[in-house]
This record gives sequence, C-alpha cells and structure tokens, in this order.
Amino acid sequence: MYIPHVLGIFTENNFKIFQKMTPSKNTNGKVSKDIRDYKIVTLASHTALQILKGAKDEGFHTVAICPKGRRRPYESYGVADEIIEIESYEEFYKIDKELSEENAIMIPHGSFIAYLGHDSVKEVKMMYYGTRDILEWESDREMERKWLLNSKLNLPKIYKNPEDIDGPVIIKFHGAGGGHGYFLANTPEEFYRRIKDHPDLKRGYVIQEYIVGVPIYAHYFYSRLTGELEVMGFDKRYESNADSIGRISAKDQLEVGVETSYTITGNIPIVLRESLLPQIFEMGDNVVAESQKIAGEGLFGPFCLEMILDPNLKFNVFEISARIVAGTNPYTNGSPYTWLRYDVPMSTGRRIALDIRQAIEVGELGKVLG
Ligand code: AMP
Ligand code: AMP
Repeated sequence: MYIPHVLGIFTENNFKIFQKMTPSKNTNGKVSKDIRDYKIVTLASHTALQILKGAKDEGFHTVAICPKGRRRPYESYGVADEIIEIESYEEFYKIDKELSEENAIMIPHGSFIAYLGHDSVKEVKMMYYGTRDILEWESDREMERKWLLNSKLNLPKIYKNPEDIDGPVIIKFHGAGGGHGYFLANTPEEFYRRIKDHPDLKRGYVIQEYIVGVPIYAHYFYSRLTGELEVMGFDKRYESNADSIGRISAKDQLEVGVETSYTITGNIPIVLRESLLPQIFEMGDNVVAESQKIAGEGLFGPFCLEMILDPNLKFNVFEISARIVAGTNPYTNGSPYTWLRYDVPMSTGRRIALDIRQAIEVGELGKVLG
C-alpha cells in the first residue's frame, strides 16, 4: 500500500548525523522537514530519467548534471527542473560544493560510480543517498565474494590458476564497462591463446565458472525507515553480441570465427516463475543481514543480485550491485510486482524519492544518507 506520510521520532543517532549535515541557506540553520527545501540531483545517464521523474512525482525539485552534448533527453522528457551542464567529469567537484549548500541530495547510479570512480565517490560533499561504506565491499571482487558467500548464496566457482580450467569459464576484466571485452574458454590452452593479445589484460581479470542457464537480475529495495525488504522486479540484459549469436547457424559461427562478447545495450523485463519468489526474498534478506555485520548500518535503498538460473532451478549469483541498476528502466511506470504493493506507478527511482521524502518528513533524514 502506498503510504505518503509515516510517523517517526528523532533518535539520538539521527540527531548526531543531522548535526554533521550542512544546514541549508534557506532554512536559517535548522534542518528542514519541508521537502521544498531540498533538491534531488543525479548525473544525466543510466537511470537518471526514472530517478528524476520519480523525484518530481514525489514533489521534489530535480537537478540533472549533464555532460556537454547530452541534455536533449532530459529536456525532451521534462524530468529536470534544472540542467547543469559540465564540460568534463572533473568539473563535477566544482559544482558539488555549491549544491551541497543548497541541501542537494545526490542519487548515485552505475554511470556515476563508473565515471567518478569508487574512491572519489567518498569525497562527494552533497548529501548522498545510500551506503558509502558498502562501496568498497562491492568494488573489490574478493570482498564482494566473501559478503555473498557469508550470505549463504550459491556462487560460480573461481579458478585461481588457468591450468585448473576443466570446463567452460568466463574471463572478466576488472572495471569492465558493461561486460565489454569478456571472453569464454574451455581449456587452459584456449585461455592462453585468447588472453595473449587481449587489450584489457593490464586491468586484471577473474576466471569464473561459466554457468549455462538464463540470466536473471533481481531488483530489491530495503528501507531502513520501514525495516522491510521489497522485491521491485526482474530483468535480463540485452547484450551484443551474446544475444544475437543464436541468429547465426553454428556452422557459420565456426567458419566466420564469431567470438562472444557481452556489451550491454539495454534491458528486457522478466516476470519470474512465482514459486521461485520465496527464495528471492530469502536471498535478499540474507544479503541485507550480512551487510549489517560488515559495513556500519548496512545496505539500504535499491540493490540487485545478478544471477544465472540453471536448469535445476538453482540460482548462481555472480555479482551484487549496491544501488539502482539500469534493469529497472523498463519499469518507469512501475513493475508487475510494485503494482501489487502500491496504488501509484512505483518505479525504483520513485521508491528512492519516497524513502527520502518520508525520512525528511519524520526528521530521520540521517537514515537514508551514507
Ligand atoms: P553509460 O552512462 O551508458 O556510458 O554507462 C556507464 C556504465 O553504467 C556502463 O559501463 C555500464 O557498466 C553501466 N550501464 C549503463 N547502462 C546499463 C544498462 N542498461 N544495463 C546495465 N549496466 C549499464
Ligand atoms: P557482468 O558484467 O558481470 O554483469 O556480466 C555480463 C554478462 O555475462 C551477464 O549478463 C551474463 O550474461 C554473463 N555472465 C556473467 N557471469 C556469468 C557466469 N558465471 N556464467 C554465465 N554467464 C555469465
């Protein structure tokens, strides 16, 4: 059910967080409970359209920080009250301070992290929606794996040594831009042959068991205000050329020497077999519970488990994204799942804005800031 206002109390912990926050110019040094005193800001790419639209729907003033030459969609769809154009990503820091004095709240997404880098994100002065503490767990493949294993999830095997390859593996380069440059191998020989002239080699890589199954990306939302985990929807990625190789006969693939790549181009909505939902909830609960042991107050807001579902209906989790994922984009008007729970179209972008709005109105903004 859609609850526009929640009642709450100003806890001691939140009060401390508030004291650290920069009071805005237009609230005379007091922390305002009026959402008109705040701005929702995001970087114009990835999921910015639904984040900004969702924030507007919840009544916020919205700001898109737009790399030069990319403002057209944000103007055309009318989602941004303000567009601030920047020449380069370095310029972001110049406007960061100014926006922080205007009670701006930054909503991070995949492109924001990709362009600014995990470490720089920690330096952002604006209020930041989500857990900054969790970023290092997510950005370091070994820490991420530990987190997921301790959450009792099933993960594909990792091969430390290429000599041990005894079946299909996928080689992933660190910091790969949306799956670009990954490759497959079946034997140590094939691995050495294909990695030899790989341009991404210096970035470092991981050799992961390749699971034959279907990709399922589960979108979650955990609110610290309600203490509840929500399943927002599912998607699969539309990847080039992995998703078009089936259009070429096996004979042609071999003769032409087609090599699979996983460059992300878009996202396709999925509705999951209903009997799998209890497991989906349980996995999400475990990840949140474990995050509370490893990183301060733990993970909150949107996150995503990226998995391959095999023919035995076993979920193999290969990654977690601790923020909004672009797979939520097909659901700007809500998903089949959010429609069950809310009686307004609830995108993940709007769910974030709702969380922030409720936090502001009950004087608990510290609960949604990292
Ligand atoms: P972009 O702003 O489109 O250049 O994307 C920056 C990064 O965000 C990419 O390198 C991807 O890692 C991620 N990304 C962007 N769009 C998507 C998408 N539709 N699905 C998954 N990841 C995405
Ligand atoms: P990633 O950049 O880690 O999200 O992976 C990009 C794509 O590679 C995914 O969307 C899957 O299609 C595929 N993929 C990644 N890991 C595996 C795996 N262990 N087994 C099978 N396919 C995978």
